[in-house]
Amino acid sequence: MERFRMYIDGKWVDAVSGKTYRAFNPANGEAVAELPLGDEADVNAAVMAARKAFPVWSQMPQAERSRLLNRLAEMQREYAEELTKWEILDHGTPVKLARMQSVFSSSNIEYCAQAARALMGSTPPPSLNSLTCIQREPIGVAALIIPWNSPILMLTSKMGACLATGNTCVIKPSAIDSLVTLKYAEIIEQLGLPPGVVNIVTGPGGTVGEALAGHPDVDFISFTGSSETGKAIMKIASQTLKRAQMELGGKNPFIVLDDADVDKIVPVAAGFLCHNTGMVCAAPGRFYIHEKIHDEFVEKMIEALKRIRVGDPNDEATDMGPVVSAEHRERVEGLIKKGVEEGAKLLLGGKRPTAPPLDKGYYVMPAVLTDVQPGTTLFREEVFGPVACFMKFSSDEEVIASANDNVYGLTASVYSRDVTRAYKIASRINAGAVGINGGRTLTPETPWGGFKESGFGKENSIYGLEEYTRLRVMAIGFD
Ligand code: NAD
Repeated sequence: MERFRMYIDGKWVDAVSGKTYRAFNPANGEAVAELPLGDEADVNAAVMAARKAFPVWSQMPQAERSRLLNRLAEMQREYAEELTKWEILDHGTPVKLARMQSVFSSSNIEYCAQAARALMGSTPPPSLNSLTCIQREPIGVAALIIPWNSPILMLTSKMGACLATGNTCVIKPSAIDSLVTLKYAEIIEQLGLPPGVVNIVTGPGGTVGEALAGHPDVDFISFTGSSETGKAIMKIASQTLKRAQMELGGKNPFIVLDDADVDKIVPVAAGFLCHNTGMVCAAPGRFYIHEKIHDEFVEKMIEALKRIRVGDPNDEATDMGPVVSAEHRERVEGLIKKGVEEGAKLLLGGKRPTAPPLDKGYYVMPAVLTDVQPGTTLFREEVFGPVACFMKFSSDEEVIASANDNVYGLTASVYSRDVTRAYKIASRINAGAVGINGGRTLTPETPWGGFKESGFGKENSIYGLEEYTRLRVMAIGFD
């Protein structure tokens, strides 16, 4: 079993307390690594290192900083097989997806490196009597708190923007799957960034995360995770009035109008539902299918989900692996059970596979529930698993009102052959990213972030970079 250490001030270290904990392979429940159980003492050391590194890193010429980050992205691609291995072992990501993410996510860093050169260099024109400069500058020490659902994507999008704009950081990966982040530090070490620019502290949210949120020397928090945790962090961070960016949960409507091409959409819907075993903030949380095509759609969806190959994440043929932990599986199963108790009909799945070797892992088979009623638990709460919740609607007005009847506002999808009608509906859905007929909303160039209790602030794109900066006005008079 491999023994991991944290990365603080350019050094590999154990927790100050000397305590450790184990990481488990979700595909078979076996322990795969031992890693440090950090706490407040480790956070203090990491924040101090990031603070010390800030003047060096923030005053480096932008061109040089961007050059280093372009090289980091290149090195990530060279290192992709190693990252892929740990994504599979620690998160259970199917190999095809893990490989794609390990390579593709390097473009997050590359984009930030390049865009920051434009963003960090704009100033207003001078006049005869005075010179006014708007300086865009890094904020300082950032706490990057990331969830377990897609470690490499979360890490690269946050770290890319943070570093490219001249901030230093303390990264807190989820205690459930920290290994890819720690592996990534090996690349950072080889790149030779100044010590303290990137620090990683592992351990539970309640100690490491809270210590970061309340630390007086942390200037900015970029958080991705559940809305509940986001609120807890905001409460703590308000004591020092920290700036924050919150990327939180979703219960995303997937709306199919009566004129839509069912045969074309069903495979997309099934793939989307099972992508990363449903542990995706943008996953379709509520399927709204027009009553004229509802039964046909559900029937075809069931057939499509039966064809999803659930299996060993190392197998190239696998479409869907396990969920990330035994606790999370219990949560998903609990929500299905609650849904049935509240009147929904379970037409497919939701069970654990019983045959070896899958019986040892944290698997749950894709599920289909119909007749999910407004106001019930399944209608309101994010499942974060491969569970399709179906509802019928009969008019555009009805579906708009119901789709918006939720505390979340992260994403939405609308499908119709009539793009004008789809656009009119989409523009009235209260969500930060709305895709029509499969249009992609998540790329390094597009702003990502939700409305309502799905959070605030944007990740990715030039707007995401801006989040990591502040503006200062400097005026010189010549009278
Ligand atoms: P979580 O909120 O439980 O944990 C997220 C991170 O916060 C982890 O690192 C955790 O250790 C830490 N944390 C937990 N309690 C804390 C506290 N009191 N103070 C400080 N830090 C604390 O979320 P999760 O279960 O890891 O991830 C799933 C959630 O993330 C889902 O709700 C999902 O929708 C959301 N998510 C959102 C986006 C987005 O872009 N909006 C993307 C991915 C995931």
